[in-house]
Amino acid sequence: MSVKTGFDLKLFRNIGIAAHIDAGKTTTTERILYYTGRIHKIGEVHEGAATMDWMEQERERGITITAAVTTANWKHSGTGIEHRINIIDTPGHVDFTIEVERSMRVLDGAVAVFDASQGVEPQSETVWRQADKYRVPRIAFANKMDKTGADLWLVVNTMKERLGARPVVMQLPIGREDTFKGIVDVLRQKAYIYGNDLGTDIKVVEIPEELKAQAAEYYEKLVEAAADYDENIMMKFLEGEKPTEEELVRAIRKGTIAMEIFPVFLGSALKNKGVQLLLDGVVDYLPSPLDIPPIRGKTENGEEVERPADPNGPLAALAFKIMADPYVGRLTFVRVYSGTLRSGSYVQNTTKGKKERVARLLQMHANHREEVEELRAGELGAVVGLKETITGDSLVGDGDEAIILESIEVPEPVIDL
Ligand code: GDP
Repeated sequence: MSVKTGFDLKLFRNIGIAAHIDAGKTTTTERILYYTGRIHKIGEVHEGAATMDWMEQERERGITITAAVTTANWKHSGTGIEHRINIIDTPGHVDFTIEVERSMRVLDGAVAVFDASQGVEPQSETVWRQADKYRVPRIAFANKMDKTGADLWLVVNTMKERLGARPVVMQLPIGREDTFKGIVDVLRQKAYIYGNDLGTDIKVVEIPEELKAQAAEYYEKLVEAAADYDENIMMKFLEGEKPTEEELVRAIRKGTIAMEIFPVFLGSALKNKGVQLLLDGVVDYLPSPLDIPPIRGKTENGEEVERPADPNGPLAALAFKIMADPYVGRLTFVRVYSGTLRSGSYVQNTTKGKKERVARLLQMHANHREEVEELRAGELGAVVGLKETITGDSLVGDGDEAIILESIEVPEPVIDL
């Protein structure tokens, strides 16, 4: 049994992959698990074909897409810092179901996947609106850049026209359709060329001559967007001084978390192009549990309380999915918002008014499960041993004030006229 150490909550990203059917959610998720799985097994021989075989097997067994939360690790390719990424499965159907609402409720950010040959379709609009409603900051991934008719600008323009969103182009494509072979990183003013269809061989090169003017144009647009969130950036830019990479990332991150801007990445999940840089984007721009407002709840007297993401605070957790597991029986997937949920402890289910025992705690990785001693504020995992708890129930510590977490419905944002 392993005890969690070393992961600072700042390094957590709890995300969903939001897309309408066929945009490439499954393929993108599989590729993410492929790369994060590689990092997880660092030091082991697990290269090339062997890893692809493993992916095929997983696909056949359907493991990667059935877990309510899959826990993965990702080392940012720029900073080298390892992050924990929990991928929460968001149901793919477009109807406005309670399940979609529940998954939206427990994630802090999302990757919106679009089919670059279609742009924003009416169905992707529905998914986008749901994320708006639950105030989920997003980055966009223009997928299928290898496909005939694929066009980044179609995605960017339809994001503006149909979604009323402000996209910020983070990458420009090198080549198009079947000659699509890399990207220009607008912020860092570098180009990346993919050497193979495993995505394992990426070369950093100079920006190709024919893209230099466009790269400069979009750098300026990016700086303009960033300047809205950091005064120094525009000042520096106007004085001919370059803002630093850190300043730009910080400012874009701020705007993304405020849901005012939406960084756009591109690639082809099928051809293993663009997924690693998308993961860097998740780390750079999507919020950590510390960046989101504290969860609210109500006491028995109807008094409103807040529970900030503090592992040392009183326990507050929400059950968001129940699954039957052939090995351990009933699994209750929870998000811990405040305090620390410990294996072997008793909790109160305040929705049901019942005391329950947490027999074991598990985290699901793409290719194995891990038993853990505790889940701290901001973390997600599965509880074994809860008998009465169902989806939507609140859990607090035994002896803690009996609060019920706010219901799934969130208030409409107030619009100042
Ligand atoms: P989901 O329904 O959103 O989960 O989409 P899938 O991941 O199942 O993909 C739908 C179809 O699009 C499948 O046939 C995939 O092989 C294909 N697809 C996914 N990503 C790409 C891509 O980057 N390029 C191309 N050409 N096809 C893709």
